[in-house]
Amino acid sequence: MKRCAVVTGGSRGIGAATVVKLASQGYDVALTYRTQRTAAEEVAATAQRLGARTVLIQADLADLERARAVIHEAADALGELHVLVNNAGYVQRVPWEDVSLEDWERMIRVGLTAAFVCARAAVPYMKEAGFGRIVNVSSLRALTGAPHGVHYAAAKAGLLGLTRSLALALAPFRITVNAVCPGYVATDINREALATRGPEIRAQIPLGRPAEPEEVAATIAFLCSEEAGYITGQTLSPNGGLRMD
Ligand code: NAP
Repeated sequence: MKRCAVVTGGSRGIGAATVVKLASQGYDVALTYRTQRTAAEEVAATAQRLGARTVLIQADLADLERARAVIHEAADALGELHVLVNNAGYVQRVPWEDVSLEDWERMIRVGLTAAFVCARAAVPYMKEAGFGRIVNVSSLRALTGAPHGVHYAAAKAGLLGLTRSLALALAPFRITVNAVCPGYVATDINREALATRGPEIRAQIPLGRPAEPEEVAATIAFLCSEEAGYITGQTLSPNGGLRMD
């Protein structure tokens, strides 16, 4: 059966790789971008070559009304909605004492509240379809903490609580809710860290390298699949062995 998905932050990195992976598996995909229109168009073009219908939606997810509208625009354009990947996010590397309240609130809004808002808007479509998958892209930092990104780690840890709570609430409707906690991934978000501390970071990772975005996308796509229907409220952590629970 043709499935329809929304991927937030689909213009680059993990989100872009997820759009392409889902398209390769037969999904139609709506992808959001904030600033990178051209990159988002290229991702959409790749997905179309794989046979997907695509919808491009511009949104700054710090605007929660816009976050809600994204879901309705996607569902209107695609006709149905089965899958939501809450992926959009950013980091801000700053000592914890220097995180302003404004920094804190924006990070929590983009990284946590927008995921809640998108899920709440998406669930009625999933209930109508009798099938749903929500995947929240958290981070290894949710589990380890981050002294130079306390607001990032707090938002990502909050996503895990949201994941488990929604998993319980939505299980009666055949809607699963899971999280992924990637370790280091070779994307723009940590390009600077990998450029300045690359050898040190690689030395910490048992597999000796950061993940490719496609490797995280494969984990996300698995959680979206029909086959993953008995997995809910779980966290998968593609982290190269950095942490084993
Ligand atoms: P990326 O390459 O920087 O891409 C970030 C994406 O999020 C882009 O599509 C960007 O849109 C979008 N975005 C950023 N801020 C936004 C906002 N305020 N509103 C709407 N969209 C916004 O990052 P990535 O590495 O793929 O990260 C994707 C997710 O994985 C994030 O949630 C991140 O925290 C998580 N993660 C990444 C790593 C890693 O090592 N890379 C590790 C753990 C978790 P534009 O490009 O259009 O501006």
